[in-house]
Amino acid sequence: MRQLLLSYWLGCSLLILLMVTLYDLWEHRNQIVREGEHAAHVVESSLRIPMTHRQRQNLLEAYGLTNQTQRFDDRINLLLVIDRTGRIAYSSRPTWQSLLISDPLFDQMAVDDPDFTAVVRCFRSTASDCMELRSEDLHLHLRGNSVVRPIWMPSTDLGLPRQPFLVLVNFDSGMLINDVLQDLPRLVFFSALVAMLLAAALWLVISSRMLPQLLKASQTDDLTQLMNRTSFMDLAMEQLAEAEERQAELVFAILDIDHFKRINDTYGHGCGDAALASAGSLLRTVTRPEDLVCRFGGEEFALLIATSQQEANKALERLRLQLEMNTLRYNTHRIALTVSIGAAATARCGYNLDYLYNAADKALYAAKGAGRNRVQWNMGELISRLSPSSATGH
Ligand code: GH3
Ligand code: MG
Ligand code: MG
Repeated sequence: MRQLLLSYWLGCSLLILLMVTLYDLWEHRNQIVREGEHAAHVVESSLRIPMTHRQRQNLLEAYGLTNQTQRFDDRINLLLVIDRTGRIAYSSRPTWQSLLISDPLFDQMAVDDPDFTAVVRCFRSTASDCMELRSEDLHLHLRGNSVVRPIWMPSTDLGLPRQPFLVLVNFDSGMLINDVLQDLPRLVFFSALVAMLLAAALWLVISSRMLPQLLKASQTDDLTQLMNRTSFMDLAMEQLAEAEERQAELVFAILDIDHFKRINDTYGHGCGDAALASAGSLLRTVTRPEDLVCRFGGEEFALLIATSQQEANKALERLRLQLEMNTLRYNTHRIALTVSIGAAATARCGYNLDYLYNAADKALYAAKGAGRNRVQWNMGELISRLSPSSATGH
């Protein structure tokens, strides 16, 4: 059980870790997009102010520098403002100004960055209108991260027509992975904690519901719903030890249905099963709660009754008669069952379970030999020493 819970905890932890890491990646990607949009917005605003081209370029460079050290924490790699012809109008790297974005130089920058690549490709082919390009926010790019936003530069104050530009903000490659790696210890702790809570909940369900059911199933005989031989022997051993301390009397008895093979042979195995179930049900109802009753195996049942031999004899005779009168209805048949009972009392045979079992078995054999349908007692003379294992194996 401990191993099951441990594997469950580990499996759950890994699964939760995977899910929260993916979510974290997603969140960081969205954060990058927001940062890129913010940069594009700042650029657009700065371009709105009337000033010379040189001043604008200086402003953008200054912005790039400020942001590199402050807001974006050295994360912005490159900021480009591209005009409709594909020429770089302004750049956070002054040397790149006036270069064409389709220049082979940018192939290197665009490696592993689908959004950057899309911009370069678009300006190489004249077919599409590149001013409509936007980065695809829904994609998670682990290595390259660019945010591409179209902006309009209102130049009415300068007497120039409004023109569309493309702002491309390229972030440090591997930034996404770094961000997630930083979060990883917290995510591992969180996943392990949640998985532990789930494992605790599972343990509660198992221990409060499933374990009792499993335990009962492992101790019960399916067909008769009586206790099975193994748990009977365990409990009998305990009761005998306890009774020996108090010198209380107990009786061990084995019931065997007579000529049971004939029932199977005449009416079929299904009828045999029904007869066993019916005998089991009667035994459950007529015995006292403190008596131990089990299906010992095949068509045999065993009983451990806390009473004297005299009282037990009356009870066993009554039981034998009840079983005889309890005729079984099977299809159109009415089948009478009889049982032979071999019994041994602790007063005569002692408190050793193996000896008692052996004695009762010998008595049962005698009952069969004497004509069946009877109770036969072992008065202590029929015991032969058996190895302890012969009592628990059948
Ligand atoms: P006896 O009076 O000497 O006890 O004769 P018997 O026929 O009752 O005893 P025997 O040992 O010859 O046959 C027992 C039969 O019980 C044989 C076996 O097929 C059958 N049996 C054992 N377990 C089951 C069971 O679960 N269901 C059915 N239908 N028959 C079973
Ligand atoms: Mg038998
Ligand atoms: Mg039999």
